[in-house]
Amino acid sequence: MARKPMMAGNWKMNNAIGEAVVLTQEISNNWWKDWEDKVDVVICPPFVDLKPVKTVLEFDKTKIFVGAQNVYWEEAGAFTGEVSVPMIRECGCDYCIVGHSERRGLFGETNEDVNKKVRALLGGRLKPIVCVGESLAVRDEGTTNEYVCAQVKAAFAGVDADDAAKCVVAYEPIWAIGTGRTATPEQAEEVCAAVRAQLAVLFGEETAQAMRILYGGSMNPGNVDALVAEPDIDGGLIGGASLKCDSFIQLVKAVM
Ligand code: PEP
Repeated sequence: MARKPMMAGNWKMNNAIGEAVVLTQEISNNWWKDWEDKVDVVICPPFVDLKPVKTVLEFDKTKIFVGAQNVYWEEAGAFTGEVSVPMIRECGCDYCIVGHSERRGLFGETNEDVNKKVRALLGGRLKPIVCVGESLAVRDEGTTNEYVCAQVKAAFAGVDADDAAKCVVAYEPIWAIGTGRTATPEQAEEVCAAVRAQLAVLFGEETAQAMRILYGGSMNPGNVDALVAEPDIDGGLIGGASLKCDSFIQLVKAVM
């Protein structure tokens, strides 16, 4: 089954509004109508940039999607510092990253939290980009596939196949994120294939074949071709290389 590739830029806590607008304009200037049919491009800036980024894209009539980097599962209330699904939808988001390893590692996000966020997003008609990935210790133990598949199973608990089909999974080995150390295409493919097999167990083969699985972890213009040539890698979730227009555009073009 042919899956439409995706390139998603995770800006993390970079680019205040002025810089975000400039970078979005640069990316938007490179956008060409062809992209629309060949690749889904997503920009995931910090919360405060969501609306300004969306405004630039709407003004330019550019079909690039906007995603948040996190969300809370309750709709509203006494949850100081949190941002809800209706709030990010109102800012123009179509996607939201969930369970990034920095959120799991630095902010204590659990598999249960990830699952609540996935279900809240689907309930609010937004599409989760669900991040999974192992530490170096898990890889060295030789239990990567089991560990990552358990994360997938937990993230999708209580989700049906129709909703799962709207989701994207990003396999991001923690030891490769922001380190300049990329998984080899073979290492990445082995885990992405295991993730797809797990999705097939959960939702059936047809849904699993339709779902996009991204690789993330120091993906850059020099290594993208070999990674996306693998049969179960449908694009990338990009940190560092999404902060410069040139490198992000090169990554987008690599999957077209
Ligand atoms: C990420 O943060 O999701 C990521 C993959 O970062 P980097 O590309 O910088 O490794």
